[in-house]
Amino acid sequence: METLMHTCCAPCSVSCIRQLREEGIEPVSFWYNPNIHPYQEYKARRDTLMAYAPAIGMKLIVREDYGLRDFCRAVCGDIDHRCGRCYHIRLWETARYAAEHGYGSFTSTLFVSPYQNHELLRQTAEEAAEAYGVAFLYRDFRPGFRAGQQEARERGFYMQKYCGCVFSEEDRYRKQIDRDLKQPEKIITE
Ligand code: SF4
Repeated sequence: METLMHTCCAPCSVSCIRQLREEGIEPVSFWYNPNIHPYQEYKARRDTLMAYAPAIGMKLIVREDYGLRDFCRAVCGDIDHRCGRCYHIRLWETARYAAEHGYGSFTSTLFVSPYQNHELLRQTAEEAAEAYGVAFLYRDFRPGFRAGQQEARERGFYMQKYCGCVFSEEDRYRKQIDRDLKQPEKIITE
């Protein structure tokens, strides 16, 4: 049995793939991440997955969409609550693609991350499944997260340092930015 597995990045996919294959389910990886910016970051994550998939005999569908402008437009109304919109964009497109191409179910590597809003992800996927008439294969992949990340490091994968959007990159440096702002004007002489 196959399932269409939305894949946010190669490192997160490692333990998801292992778990599904142990269950006798073959994941078909679906790259669709218009939330990842800037372009070099998008490319690094995509290319890592494109090298990994054939190495483990996994089919990969790359749906290109470097969506900087559309994504920012979609979330700019409520940047602090952008993740719900981001989940919707990616999971609804995965469900749509699964239904259109005859997959019996879909899932996502996002369910491995302890940093995502798991319940909101699940709710969004269930709504997408209902809307497109395709089954959502729910798995809580989180217990495998650490081991998967460790294996990804050992394989020499590109390991990203922030979730994906430029706002999450800002979050990564929040303390440093706040420190900088304590001295908002600097005059540098010789
Ligand atoms: S923080 Fe991550 S999940 Fe949230 S909007 Fe940005 S890329 Fe999407």
